[in-house]
Amino acid sequence: MFSLNKNIAVIRGDGIGPEIVNQALKVLDKVAELYGHTFTYTDVDMGGCAIDKYGEPLPEAELKKCLESDSVLLGAVGGDKWNDVPGDKRPEKGLLKLRAGMGVYSNNRPAKIWPQLSSASPLKKSIVDAGIDFIIVRELIGGIYFGEHKTEGDVATDVLKYSEAEIERIGRIGFETARKRNKKLCSVEKSNVLDSSRLWKKVMHRLAEEYPDIELSDMLVDNCAMQIVKNPAQFDVVVTENMFGDILSDEASMITGSIGMIPSSSLGSSSCGLYEPIHGSAPDIAGKDMANPIGTILSAAMMLRFSFDMPDEATAIENAVSEYLDKGYRTADIMSEGGNLVGCSKCGELICENLRKGC
Ligand code: NAD
Repeated sequence: MFSLNKNIAVIRGDGIGPEIVNQALKVLDKVAELYGHTFTYTDVDMGGCAIDKYGEPLPEAELKKCLESDSVLLGAVGGDKWNDVPGDKRPEKGLLKLRAGMGVYSNNRPAKIWPQLSSASPLKKSIVDAGIDFIIVRELIGGIYFGEHKTEGDVATDVLKYSEAEIERIGRIGFETARKRNKKLCSVEKSNVLDSSRLWKKVMHRLAEEYPDIELSDMLVDNCAMQIVKNPAQFDVVVTENMFGDILSDEASMITGSIGMIPSSSLGSSSCGLYEPIHGSAPDIAGKDMANPIGTILSAAMMLRFSFDMPDEATAIENAVSEYLDKGYRTADIMSEGGNLVGCSKCGELICENLRKGC
C-alpha cells in the first residue's frame, strides 16, 4: 500500500464538537503512524464560534479552506448562546452553506446495531434480534431547508421545492446503494399531500426501470416513522428528501442505542466529502468529558473508505471500536446495562490502543 498525503479540513464547531473531533484526530494520527500516511489538518471556524469571531457562521475564507481540502471532518455546531441571532446568521446556516458550497447532495446515514449494544436499544429484544441494519440516503442540499424563508407580520413561510434533476441524482444513489447491499430500496415521501412528493415518487418509478434487479417500494413518511420502531428489519436502503431524512435518521439512530454512535458521509460529484456524526452540539453535556466520540471516529473511518480509498485503514478503525465495546467500555449514553464507564477522552485513547495494522 502506498503512503498518501491528505489535507483534512477540521471543523470542531461548538458544544461537544471540539471534544469529539479531538478523539477522531487521535485515531487518524495513529492510523497515519501505522500505515505510513501523512494527514495534515487545516482548522476551520464554523458555527457559533465563527459568529463570535467574525460575525457570521461561515466566512468565505473558511469555506475556501474546505473546498481546497481533500475532505472535511466536522464535529457539530449550535447552542443556546446563539438562539437570538437572526435566522440568516444562525450557526446552522454555516452548515447549510458548507453543504451547498461543497455540493454534497447525498448524505449516507447507516442505522446498524452493534451486537455488543443490543441491550442499549429502547426496542423490545424480539425486534432487535430480528436485525437492525439499514442505510438512510438523504437528499442534502435541496428541499425546505434551502427554499425561501420569510416572516411577514404574524405569517411565516418556508418553501419546499424539488426539481426532477435533483430527485433523479439522489434517486440514483439510492438504487446504486441498494445494488451493493440486499437490493431493496424504500422510497419515502408524502405523496398523499405534497406535490413535491408526487414528483419524487414519479421519478423514483421512472428510475426503477433502469434498475430491474432492485425491489422498489414506496412508503409515506408518517408510516415510515412508525415502521422504523415496529419492524426495522424490513429496511435495507431508504431514500428520502432532506427534512424527512433528517428526522427519520435521528429516530433510526436511537433504536441502535445512542445517537452518539452514528457516523455519516456526504458526497457530491467529487471525492472530497463531508464527514460528521449525525448528532448536534449537545450543549447539556458540553465541556464535561461525557460525550460519546464514536460517531465522529466512525465518520473519520468513512472518510478513509469513501474519499481516500483506504478500506483497510477504515476497517482497522471499525475493528478497534468493536474491540473497545467487547471489553465493556461505555460512555454514559450507552451505560444502560452497565459496563466500565469512561469519558470522551479515555474512549478515544482506548480505541487508539486497539488499533492494529491489517486487522
Ligand atoms: P443534540 O443531538 O445535540 O442532542 C440531543 C441529545 O442527545 C442530548 O441529550 C445530548 O446530550 C445527546 N447527545 C448528542 N450527541 C451525543 C454524544 N455524542 N454523546 C452522548 N450524548 C449525545 O440535539 P439538540 O439538543 O436538539 O441540539 C443541540 C444543538 O445542536 C442545537 O443548537 C442544534 O441546532 C444543533 N444541531 C447541530 C447539528 C450539526 O451540527 N450537524 C445537528 C443537529 C443539531
